[in-house]
Amino acid sequence: MSQQQISLKTFDCTTTRVPNLFASMVFSNKVMKERLPKETYKALKRTIDQGKSLDKSIADVVANAMKDWAVEKGATHFTHWFQPMTGITAEKHDSFISPDGNGGVIMEFSGKELIKGEPDASSFPSGGLRATFEARGYTAWDPSSYAFIKDNTLCIPTVFCSYGGEALDKKTPLLRSMEAINKQALRILRLFGHTNVTKVNTTVGTEQEYFLIDRKVYEQREDLLLCDRTLFGAKTSKGQELEDHYFGVIKPRVAKFMKDLDEELWKLGILAKTKHNEVAPAQHELAPIFTSSNIATDHNQLTMEIMQKVASSHGLACLLHEKPFEGVNGSGKHNNWSISTDTGINLLEPGESPSDNAQFLLFLTAVIEAVNEYQDLLRVSVATPSNDHRLGANEAPPAIVSVFLGDELTSILESIEQNSDYNQKDKEVFKVGVHILPRFPKDTTDRNRTSPFAFTGNKFEFRMPGSSLSASGPNIVLNTIVAEELCKYADVLEKADDFNDALQKLIKSSIVKNKRIIFNGNNYSEQWVEEAKQRGLSNLKTTADALPAFIAPNSIELFTKHKVFTQAELHSRYEILMESYSKKIHIEASTMIDMVNLKILPQVSSYVQSLTQTSINKKTLSQNINCDYEMKQITTLSDKTSQAFIEVQKLKIELNTAQQISDITKQALYYKDVILPDMNSLRSVVDEMESNCSSDYWPYPNYTKLLYSVY
Ligand code: ADP
Ligand code: MG
Repeated sequence: MSQQQISLKTFDCTTTRVPNLFASMVFSNKVMKERLPKETYKALKRTIDQGKSLDKSIADVVANAMKDWAVEKGATHFTHWFQPMTGITAEKHDSFISPDGNGGVIMEFSGKELIKGEPDASSFPSGGLRATFEARGYTAWDPSSYAFIKDNTLCIPTVFCSYGGEALDKKTPLLRSMEAINKQALRILRLFGHTNVTKVNTTVGTEQEYFLIDRKVYEQREDLLLCDRTLFGAKTSKGQELEDHYFGVIKPRVAKFMKDLDEELWKLGILAKTKHNEVAPAQHELAPIFTSSNIATDHNQLTMEIMQKVASSHGLACLLHEKPFEGVNGSGKHNNWSISTDTGINLLEPGESPSDNAQFLLFLTAVIEAVNEYQDLLRVSVATPSNDHRLGANEAPPAIVSVFLGDELTSILESIEQNSDYNQKDKEVFKVGVHILPRFPKDTTDRNRTSPFAFTGNKFEFRMPGSSLSASGPNIVLNTIVAEELCKYADVLEKADDFNDALQKLIKSSIVKNKRIIFNGNNYSEQWVEEAKQRGLSNLKTTADALPAFIAPNSIELFTKHKVFTQAELHSRYEILMESYSKKIHIEASTMIDMVNLKILPQVSSYVQSLTQTSINKKTLSQNINCDYEMKQITTLSDKTSQAFIEVQKLKIELNTAQQISDITKQALYYKDVILPDMNSLRSVVDEMESNCSSDYWPYPNYTKLLYSVY
């Protein structure tokens, strides 16, 4: 073979290998087309594209084809794959086997099994819903998300509801919110003459941050095993001060992990695209190419799961917690969001013509208005006890919601608002529907990375979601609040005699009303906190503070109007989230108590004993030998151990008190106001002990080992 032939062959391998691998474990549109009879395929497509219900006989044919395909790929089981309120996915595997009457088995899968499942789901959180309505829940196939094979199991993406139809999962309301925004956006698009558009979708690309540490080190820490974050740990001498990790060369072990991860994700049809090192040591990021929001949410759940699995097979542990380590950056999940039509138009992309631009400005102001009016709901959508450690800390957007637009777009909006010059040279006022917008730079250099909600050229990047959060919550809120503003706009514009005039007025009044939410400065600064207060923006610092907004009258009105949540569903979710807040802090505090009682105090005590013995030995040799070091350490550590002991006793009593509080809101506030501060003070005593204790005695791997264990 000539040199050229060889290199062409290699080239050919890589050009076909990845495309062949991609979605090889997905019952995709392509597979459906190949394997289903024409009529069945058409009927299924109607179900997928238009939400039409699927006939039982058709479901049987689809199920059978799915089973044949899955069995060929080595699958032996199937499961309805769903996303209960636990925040992670759930599955219960059933095998395809069925007795053949002759003592053997055949592989079977019926349409009924495909469409509906009845998991005994009484242990999933329901916030009282199942008690009120029906004892059991059921799962129903969501044909808009493709079935896939994972661990020799055919996974069928499903929604999870009570018998009364109340949503018990994170997917049902997301699908409903997509329908809500579809309906309202279509009304607006009709007004702009887009009669060919039949569907509007929201699109999402989730940038996923995570930490990767050595598994052996991970397994030695109960706090990481039980709580996903370190509850103790003295600072390492080198954190992220040098900023040498961001976009740095990827270490060989990490690179191997990333390569395997990409391939596993590609097999599942997940568009894993970008990978790089993040700011903190041991921190990395993966970003996929965006897709429709329900699929992006499914894919992100799968990505988190596969990340942890692949890490484990490489002797690593993947940490998805928002703040696994104090003193270095935490991890987020940036939710890039936009709206697009089935004709391929991104509605947040400035257009080529004045009319396109008028439409862009209308959608833009709708988003700004939505964020301003429902800032508390956006805050609620990212509220978890783990994310509380990140929001407002130095590296993450603060708990205050604001919108970054960039200078150029802001000056256009100002020109519309004040009838003032927008273009310095031409002294022109920007007129909606008359002028063409400039292209806004998408380049990353002048990005404001401190803003919680930033316009980035043709999409918004919502940076508040935490790394471990399901993407569904933030997108349910985004879709619904924007649907509401579009609805209000459509109500006005549909009645207008002069459309352009009404449009100009509407956009102008919306800017006036909502400009307080626009902030292009440094969101991390102290001045902003003060200024935001002056502007009347909320600053809900913790989950316990934020959650009540979810069941406030304006939230109930919004979600019920757009049929995204019923009032009962909202209350049930409130209850689940509040309870989970308390439970998670409870587990952390209990873990701290055990770590201190069972390992830290006994070990430090042994170390003090060895120091004591050393000083006694020294004195035996000669009374004149200096024992200052030993004496000083004995005193310091003895003080700290008794202090820690007292703090632990106190925390124990408080945990008991907390469990006696029956009102869930009051209970959460007790965890926030009493227990969390005491956990912090226990931590600081223990961290000081760690800094003074011999590493031979300290029972846990320290921060240096944790953060620099992978190379
Ligand atoms: P940047 O680096 O400027 O933030 P990227 O192009 O890398 O932009 O995109 C970041 C994320 O945003 C990716 O996941 C990408 O797929 C996603 N994204 C890009 N365009 C859209 C869009 N129209 N809707 C939703 N997400 C998008
Ligand atoms: Mg980005």
